[in-house]
Amino acid sequence: MNKTLRKAVIAGNWKMNKTPSEAKELLTQIAPLVKDAQCEVVACVPYVDLAVAVEACKGTNIKIGAENAHWEEKGAFTGEISTGMLKEAGVEYVVLGHSERRQYFGETDETVNKRTKAVLKAGLKAIVCVGELLWERECGITEEVVARQIKLDLFDVSAEELKNVIIAYEPVWAIGTGKTATAYQAEEVCSFIRAVLAKLYGKEAADGVTIQYGGSMNDANAAELLSKEDVDGGLIGGASLVAEKFAAIVAAANA
Ligand code: PEP
Repeated sequence: MNKTLRKAVIAGNWKMNKTPSEAKELLTQIAPLVKDAQCEVVACVPYVDLAVAVEACKGTNIKIGAENAHWEEKGAFTGEISTGMLKEAGVEYVVLGHSERRQYFGETDETVNKRTKAVLKAGLKAIVCVGELLWERECGITEEVVARQIKLDLFDVSAEELKNVIIAYEPVWAIGTGKTATAYQAEEVCSFIRAVLAKLYGKEAADGVTIQYGGSMNDANAAELLSKEDVDGGLIGGASLVAEKFAAIVAAANA
């Protein structure tokens, strides 16, 4: 089965939640619950939590991620964070193009592409988020939207660099809404994404890419979603803030 060609990755996206002391507490709760995980376990946390998170996860199997990164190495970009800063902080993963960045902060496929290339150049792993709006799904253009995002966000990313890319399929209508895509809908788009990757990079490279589903994934629906052939993991928002729920999703990925 092709699923065995790639590692399952369960990543929490904490968004703008948890102060440094709260982050330490949550990670200390999660660590023992996921210590035997067969899958990769990642916590993507707010910038100010990174130092404490990296420290709290030393000696554990939890990897730390950031929620964005700028494409320039340094300079006059008030409020932004460079890949060099993230690397030195001990970060391994970076979430890019999350729909909340696209929706509220003017993120475009062009800037997602620039950020992705910078992250990969720095030797970090990129979790690139794509997904359609409800309106786009209703208009029947989900595949068109997702294919366009993949092509633009990965423009000029080499096959070698693709090894450090995870695609997170996150239908925007399912994020933070409690409305999960059905396992069938998730698989339909995740397998389509793999086909787009195969056209761009060849089948072998595409078969090696971890594709996550994200959008109200929780302890109750994770097992069914993760059982699908092309759903290799999850990007988890709300449920990643509760140790037991996050651990249950990790357990579902191991099953
Ligand atoms: C997310 O933030 O990427 C996400 C999927 O959120 P939620 O799980 O809360 O829908």
